[in-house]
Amino acid sequence: MKLFEKKKVEKRRKDEDLFKVVDSTLSPRTYVLLEEIASKLNIDYYLGAISSGKEAKVYPAKTFDGKYYAVKIYYVSTSASKRAIQKYTFGDKRFEDIKATNTRKLIITWARKEFKNLSIMYESGVNVPKPILVKENILVMDFIGENGKRAPLLKELSEDEITKDLYDEVISQLEIMVNKAKLVHGDLSEYNIMVWDKVYIIDVSQAIFIESENAIDLLIRDIENVNKFFSSKGIEVYSTEDILKRLNIT
Ligand code: ATP
Ligand code: MN
Repeated sequence: MKLFEKKKVEKRRKDEDLFKVVDSTLSPRTYVLLEEIASKLNIDYYLGAISSGKEAKVYPAKTFDGKYYAVKIYYVSTSASKRAIQKYTFGDKRFEDIKATNTRKLIITWARKEFKNLSIMYESGVNVPKPILVKENILVMDFIGENGKRAPLLKELSEDEITKDLYDEVISQLEIMVNKAKLVHGDLSEYNIMVWDKVYIIDVSQAIFIESENAIDLLIRDIENVNKFFSSKGIEVYSTEDILKRLNIT
């Protein structure tokens, strides 16, 4: 075989290996982006989706060095996403200048917003997966877990793993988020907290600045979600009022 032909075959085989476990619902454009991301981040292959939520799917990606990333791919066209984005980006000054005229643009805005929020939180010392890059509808962050097996959500822990110390850890993350990052999560619950070597806050696309309209209402809802979960497990929780007092809000 001539050298250039051999290279072509190798390239094709490599592409198949890269994507064979990724489902077929992704758009052709998404595949192109995933290929670009793979060469940039030294990714050997993408594994099957570990979750498919309302707005996105998350895939582990393994690098040639054996490191894992979590790759969150937003669906490019769902009416649910469109509604949610309009709801959450409305009134957020950082995104007001974006004239989002179609769903694809809205989704890209959404992914960028999650990346921005993750970055602010990460730099402020909140335990979040380290943000790596965002490219159109794809966000790459550090993988929380081991060997491509994700860490459990707070929701998935057994009764004896749910302790007062864990509750305190969650509340202190909330405190750093508000006081240092100046952000309110807006969808905090046992479903968006992972527990591994420490507590990790995930799914921050809808987070808004504490000064935004409705931010305090969202903050109260976040606190109540966390309190409800821990008190249902027999943990004595602080009152919402006491938690609010610990936060630098006016
Ligand atoms: P849903 O609509 O179900 O809330 P989502 O589309 O909002 O999901 P996320 O909550 O960000 O997306 O992620 C979905 C799931 O993927 C999480 O519940 C978690 O199991 C997994 N996951 C997310 N980020 C990571 C990460 N960095 N490392 C490992 N697993 C992750
Ligand atoms: Mn989620």
